[in-house]
Amino acid sequence: MDCIFCRIINRELPAARIFEDSDVISFLDINPVNFGHTLVVPKRHYELLLDIPGVELGRVTKILPSIARAVMAATKADGLNVFQTNGPCAGQTVPHLHFHIIPRHTHDDFSFGWRQKKYRGDEMARMQTDIISALKNVGV
Ligand code: 5GP
Ligand code: ZN
Repeated sequence: MDCIFCRIINRELPAARIFEDSDVISFLDINPVNFGHTLVVPKRHYELLLDIPGVELGRVTKILPSIARAVMAATKADGLNVFQTNGPCAGQTVPHLHFHIIPRHTHDDFSFGWRQKKYRGDEMARMQTDIISALKNVGV
């Protein structure tokens, strides 16, 4: 498969590896927001968060806090972002599920540029109803 992360996992491409077990790999992002920006990746190829079975996702998220603590300690960060993209419209450039751990420093001159729209009238209540009813179909 022509997936850059699968090729890293299969050792066909180099990466600055941080951690590896039978299910999860973690390595430095090649173009970091800040130095120490680390990716945590399931070894099996799933494109989206929506695709991975819960048990396998659990193995990935179980390791996330330890890697986050290590990144924080090694970079002397003041905080961190855990970030995840699904689909090109959401900024996903590598179609293999991954979590970004981004160490943050006070005054590091980076912002996600979060915008904040406003609901009007009953828009929020209708959105709530629509998502609750969709959740019944999806199942928990
Ligand atoms: P996305 O935009 O899909 O959420 O993030 C993909 C990330 O993978 C980007 O931050 C990008 O810098 C990183 N990346 C892309 N190709 C490589 C690579 O070959 N090696 C490493 N270590 N990181 C990569
Ligand atoms: Zn892959």
